[in-house]
Order: sequence, then structure tokens, then C-alpha cells
Amino acid sequence: MSEIEIKNVSKKYETKDGTVEALKNVSLSIEQGDIYGIIGMSGAGKSTLVRCMNFLEEPTEGQVLIKGRTLGSLSKKELRKQREDIGMIFQHFNLLMQKSVIDNVCFPLYIQGKKKKEARAKALELLEIVGLQDRAKAYPAQLSGGQKLAIARALASNPKILLCDEATSALDPQTTASILELLESINKRFGITIVIITHQMSVVREICTHVAIMKDGQVAEKGLVTE
Ligand code: ADP
Repeated sequence: MSEIEIKNVSKKYETKDGTVEALKNVSLSIEQGDIYGIIGMSGAGKSTLVRCMNFLEEPTEGQVLIKGRTLGSLSKKELRKQREDIGMIFQHFNLLMQKSVIDNVCFPLYIQGKKKKEARAKALELLEIVGLQDRAKAYPAQLSGGQKLAIARALASNPKILLCDEATSALDPQTTASILELLESINKRFGITIVIITHQMSVVREICTHVAIMKDGQVAEKGLVTE
């Protein structure tokens, strides 16, 4: 059974200028442990596709299955629970700028109902995984980038899947390399399936096992990176 299965998904947005077809009959299977790159030009539908994988966007047509469970058939409560398995790193990280690094990681843990002591212990563990254990008391603006913190926070719910929206698009090559290395080590160490949106072929070559090339809301090509 695939970790993520996208079956004939279409997504239309109604705008004042008419209907935008962001996804047109897209099908894709992602297996457990894959690092799956979604590459394409701006506007190709990459973000929409990835946001359908955790139902931040609901497809207009078609189905999304996580480990065989159809997201569209879940109740709101079941969907919330299912989402704990799916961490997400947003393009602009959505960090809490007024809160310290450790409090940013504690925040989702409090939402899960963890007590303060337990949350802080877990947050420190996560900061260690991403190499920020010495910066726990700093503020996000004092970090050289928010990526590692966003990754630590996304790991707070022990997800089985990590969705990354252009996590390295604005970085210099050296920082990009260190973030990709971190993502790869998380994939290897915890067996987390990673889906990474990018417009850089170098990112795909560096860490992805599989790739789908998107164009005009469709998957133009997909397969193993080695091919
Ligand atoms: P990409 O991530 O590849 O840049 P997107 O998935 O963001 O592409 O967008 C695909 C298309 O859908 C674009 O034409 C974009 O303008 C449109 N789109 C995305 N989100 C919305 C929205 N919320 N409302 C209207 N149109 C949208």
C-alpha cells in the first residue's frame, strides 16, 4: 500500500477573473521512505498538489489516500488526528517571531495536550536533532534562517510524512546543502517519507529518490531520479 496516493485529482479555484484549473487529473503514488521531489515552474500547481496531501486544500475531484485511508471520507476529528502524521514546512515557515526558539517548538506540543515539562524535554530533543540545541533561548530573527527551526517544529507530532514547500529556495548553496543533508538524515534515521517542492533541479539531484515534473497543473513526467 502506498504511503500517499493521489488518484485523478483536479482542483479548480473560482476567482473574479474566472476559473483557474490548478490541478488537472493528477495521479501519483509515493511509497514509504521515498524522498519525492515535485519540480516545475511557478504556477505549475506544485503547492496546490502538496496542500491536497494533507487536505489544506480539498480536491474538486478525485481522491487522496494516506496509507489506504481516503482523506475525503474522514470526519473533522479523524482528519485532525490523521494530520498529526503529516508534518509541513511552509515556504515562509510561519514561525512565532515573538517567541523563543524552544517555545516555537513547544507550541504544537501544547496543542497536542502535553504538559510544560514534557513539552520542553521533547522540544530540546527535537532541537538537538536539527542542531539548534544551543540556540533554544534565541529568537527566530537571531537564527541565520528559519529552516531548521521549522523542521524541528514539524517533527513535534512524530510525523510519518514531511511535506516541504520550497524549503531551500532563497538560500545560499552552503546553507541549502546543510538543510538537504538534515532532511536526508531525518529520512534515513526515522524512515519519514519526504515530499519536497522545488524549482531547483540541483535539489532533486542531491537528495530525491523520485521526481514528478509538473507543468500547467499536470504531471508531465514522473519516475526514479536515477532514470
Ligand atoms: P506552484 O506551487 O507550482 O507555483 P500553485 O499551486 O501555487 O503553483 O498555483 C497553481 C495555480 O493555481 C496558479 O495559477 C495559481 O495562481 C492558482 N492558485 C493557487 N492558489 C489559489 C487560490 N487560493 N485562489 C486562486 N487561484 C489560486
